[in-house]
Amino acid sequence: MRSKAERQIASGLRTGWVALATFLGLIALSAALVVAFEHAIGVADDLNREDERQLVRRLLDRTMEGDVSAQLGLLNWNEAVVRVAAAPRNARAMAWVDHEFGAYAWQAFATQQALLVRRDGSVMRGWIRGAPVAESRFQGLRSTVTKLLARSQASGMVLGTPVGQIRADDGSSWPVDRAGMPLPRWAGGLVRMNGQVMIITVGSIVPDHVPDAMLHTPVYFATLRPFDDAQSARMRRDLVLGDLGLTLAAKPAAADNAIALDSVDGTRLGWLHWTARSPGPAIVRSAEPMLWAWTLLFVGVLVGGSVVLRRTWRTTRELLASEAQARHNALHDAMSGLPNRVHYMQRLRQDLAACITGQQRGDVFVGYIDLDGFKVVNDTLGHHVGDELVRQVALRLRRLMAAGDFIARFGGDEFVVLRRAEGGRAMADQLGQQIMAVLREPFVISGNAIDVTCSCGISWGPAQSEDPGELLRRADIALYRAKQRGRARFRRFTRDMDASVKLRLELEMELRRAIARDELSVAYQPIVTAGRGEIVGVEALLRWQHPERGAIRPDLFVPIAEQGGLMIVLGNWMLRRVFAQCRDWPSCDISVNLSPIQIMAGNFLPTMAAIVAETGIDPARIVLEITEGVMLDRSDHVLGVLRELNRMGFRVALDDFGNGYSSLSYLRLFQFERIKIDRSFVSNIESDADANAILCTIAALGHSLRMKVVAEGVENETQRQLVQAAGCELVQGYLFWKPMPAEDMRPLLGRPAGGRLLRLA
Ligand code: C2E
Ligand code: CA
Ligand code: CA
Repeated sequence: MRSKAERQIASGLRTGWVALATFLGLIALSAALVVAFEHAIGVADDLNREDERQLVRRLLDRTMEGDVSAQLGLLNWNEAVVRVAAAPRNARAMAWVDHEFGAYAWQAFATQQALLVRRDGSVMRGWIRGAPVAESRFQGLRSTVTKLLARSQASGMVLGTPVGQIRADDGSSWPVDRAGMPLPRWAGGLVRMNGQVMIITVGSIVPDHVPDAMLHTPVYFATLRPFDDAQSARMRRDLVLGDLGLTLAAKPAAADNAIALDSVDGTRLGWLHWTARSPGPAIVRSAEPMLWAWTLLFVGVLVGGSVVLRRTWRTTRELLASEAQARHNALHDAMSGLPNRVHYMQRLRQDLAACITGQQRGDVFVGYIDLDGFKVVNDTLGHHVGDELVRQVALRLRRLMAAGDFIARFGGDEFVVLRRAEGGRAMADQLGQQIMAVLREPFVISGNAIDVTCSCGISWGPAQSEDPGELLRRADIALYRAKQRGRARFRRFTRDMDASVKLRLELEMELRRAIARDELSVAYQPIVTAGRGEIVGVEALLRWQHPERGAIRPDLFVPIAEQGGLMIVLGNWMLRRVFAQCRDWPSCDISVNLSPIQIMAGNFLPTMAAIVAETGIDPARIVLEITEGVMLDRSDHVLGVLRELNRMGFRVALDDFGNGYSSLSYLRLFQFERIKIDRSFVSNIESDADANAILCTIAALGHSLRMKVVAEGVENETQRQLVQAAGCELVQGYLFWKPMPAEDMRPLLGRPAGGRLLRLA
């Protein structure tokens, strides 16, 4: 399924392409239109030129027809037919002809030359300016005249309206009018004479009322007059062609329209030329508004379209960017900029699959990191410091990354590292050490050094699990273990941890029930002098006798109570029970363990006061044991609580010294009544010379700070001697006593066993 944004992007791109195609189409169309328009104008101009040429030619023809029509009176005349026929043999007839044709034509029509021609083209009689001249003067015209006669015969040009034909006595057919009278045939053309262009016409002389006269072969009357400037001027007027002119030379180059003037026998005489009245400019002028409108529309479409296009592309680009941003946001943590859980799981799944299928050698290591006391930093220094701390941690972890490593933030103070490498446990340790090292240096935020540590749990797959979720859970379990072990350390996941996690959940539930059902009890372990083993005090230790599981060790269920929010209830129960049980015991120190959770609780001091009042115990008899871990968090607050406890009369011991943080600086912060050197330390003392030396130093230091030094877990005589030699005056351990129920403890205190009961106060 495509997302909405993706669909929008696709449609945006589509719109963009469509718009672009439309533009290009418009541009092409416009170009085609311009070309077509220009071509149309050209065609119109050409057509117009052709029309003008036709007109000029026709006018020329009409001029000739006009010349012949003017002579209709001569050509359609019975007497003329008769007299012309008689003239060659009859002088009177010839004189009549001279008068009616030669002189008349010159006077009436200014025909410079006139002649009567037989059908075979031979000249019967000729006149120049009305006067008869010898036929030989017209010898040069013979072929022209012959052609004209043939043309008149063939073309069917007649004066009047023919309605039928009659057969002449020479066998040819002759057009006749409605009354059956023959009509004169005619023809016209141009000819050059004496360097002058002349209009020559021929017309047949036919009878006007006695058709029988057609029995005679008709004679033609031919006239010539010059094609002169007067003629051109007339044509100019008639055709409204202002500059029409005649040239006998080649066609003038400037003239944009002309017709050739050819003589009857086909020789070029010259040109009639003029400036054509091209409609093109007029069309262009008339089309101008439309062209402007089109141009404006086109520009508008172009501008509007490009705006739309740009906007479309911009929104598409923005969509693409925001899509990328959304994808980034979906996979990254806003504050640190690191990938988030979703992204991490994708990557883990991928890398794990690659390892399982063998594409990748080795394992995928998962390092689950949690800052120790982050909540305290947030609560006391403010969230902005907490945020900055997260950012700096992210920065340092980034620095740690090797190629192929992947770091994510799961929210809060949880970071998870992914590394692909070979090496199993050794690599897990190396990764753990690297993480510890990079986060060890104090963080400086707004000028203040903040000393936070981190804990880390490491698992690796497919060796430990092929399931990414399970692998992460295992790293988390290992992390939990690291926290349990006193923080500021890393732990590799081991199989037994998993079992303990399941057990933990069950135990948590059962512990709640146990408190309610009073299944818990207190055991007491004597604390004795190192030399003589005299009991000078007891340590109260929680015991849980589970109905099915049997005895459950406190170092298993106390952390469960701490994690499960049961510690306050459990601790108060313990204090109340111990104070009540021991109130009446012969005087001895009674040590009670306090969980950091109890000390940090807001109403710890009032509760303590209430229990004291309730049980009637003398606080001076009580030694409260706290571990170093409690000093790490909110030391100001803790110190305040400790001082108040002192003020109430309690003494405070620093428990498990030598294990974990072991910062000697804590010893200077508060006046502890005693320090208890951790059992693990004592158990090494026989084999480890350094341990012995350190023990001596701690004992000396304790003494110089006016503290008693208690060695825990002394199990044999050698250890006893060594710790005594080192300067520990008190000892607690199986060598002397194991923890025991109150009933067993009480009698031990009653009798002065092995010596006086001393109170080392
Ligand atoms: P812890 O405070 O260090 O208590 C001393 C532990 O050392 C006791 O274990 C004790 O039985 C054991 N121990 C003493 N001598 C020897 C010895 O010679 N060899 C060996 N192997 N162990 C010896 P326990 O009773 O199992 O308690 C374990 C831890 O549980 C305590 O360590 C303490 O941290 C915690 N715990 C016990 N009771 C309470 C309580 O009421 N409140 C709190 N907050 N923690 C408690
Ligand atoms: Ca203790
Ligand atoms: Ca201890």
